[in-house]
Amino acid sequence: MITRSSALLQRPDRETKPLPMQARWQTQLARAIRDPLELCRRLGLDEALHGGAEAGHALFEVRVPEAYLARIRPGDRADPLLRQVLPLGEEALPTPGYVADPLAEVEHTPAPGLIHKYAGRVLLIASPACAVNCRYCFRRHFPYEENAPSRAQWDESLEHIRRDTTIREAILSGGDPLAANDRQLAWLVERLEAIPHIRRLRLHTRLPVVIPDRIDDTLLGWLGSTRLQKVMVLHINHAHEIDEAVVAACERLKAAGVALLNQSVLLQGVNDDIETLAALSERLFEAGILPYYLHVLDPVAGAAHFDVSDAKARELVAGLREVLPGFLMPRLVREIPGETSKTPL
Ligand SMILES: *Cc1c(COP(=O)(O)O)cnc(C)c1O
Ligand code: SF4
Repeated sequence: MITRSSALLQRPDRETKPLPMQARWQTQLARAIRDPLELCRRLGLDEALHGGAEAGHALFEVRVPEAYLARIRPGDRADPLLRQVLPLGEEALPTPGYVADPLAEVEHTPAPGLIHKYAGRVLLIASPACAVNCRYCFRRHFPYEENAPSRAQWDESLEHIRRDTTIREAILSGGDPLAANDRQLAWLVERLEAIPHIRRLRLHTRLPVVIPDRIDDTLLGWLGSTRLQKVMVLHINHAHEIDEAVVAACERLKAAGVALLNQSVLLQGVNDDIETLAALSERLFEAGILPYYLHVLDPVAGAAHFDVSDAKARELVAGLREVLPGFLMPRLVREIPGETSKTPL
């Protein structure tokens, strides 16, 4: 005789069909699209885009994970997410004032992989790689290979932090720090938290946005258990980047005690109108993230087509202030080489 519960257990759709499992984040990262032709084909885009895409790709390679691709509208060459990742022929045009290292970061590396420009904070390049290659990136020409430290070189950076008791906060950046594996990150964080004057750990990352499965139990294990206060600055430029998987990843981070902030870059053709910026702030808050910075574009060679003038930037922010509560207003800033903080516009 079949009891009700065993009947339930024997239902073939419950018993035999496993739920479709997402690949682990490492696999998703490894399988990211790296071919401009494939990117165009997958999105049903005009072949005319290829030539330019190849030219841009030769300068800074295409990289788009599937989870991000899924949020791009097929066939729409003006899609604001596509514009962030599709190389264009314009990238190869030299533009006066646009240079390889607009922030002169190479001059502020007291140890390999360590940038100490601002009081109380050091930035550690925890991984040379990114999960997505953003076309406007100010680090698109950064000599990552020279700044991808070995353990011995980490010791040199850690020694610099130990000696300087004015440093309160360690910022893991990159590339994208979460492109590094959890074993390495846990190793580094263990050493940082052993330095008494370090109070805060900050991560600047786009990985929870482009591959939300990165926020798995292994990551939450080391991140949730450190004594350091935790801040994560995400990098989201458009409301469409925040899907339900991103919201779920943010919930897990918050449950682990991580404060969530966002920085955006003001980009022509992506988010340079009031409605888009307002929708971004509203959507961020729905996901439990507070807007932090809205950066004007750094003049990096290959990104001139994303430029928004200072006058327009100010006008947009003034308009935004009329429609948003104060706590949803990002600070409009620029990074000026030699300054000791970001400069408000
Ligand atoms: C932006 C940045 C920081 C952090 O600045 P905050 O204003 O605290 O967000 C620290 N170091 C470097 C090199 C930076 O570019
Ligand atoms: S994720 Fe950040 S560092 Fe990496 S390419 Fe994009 S903007 Fe640059």
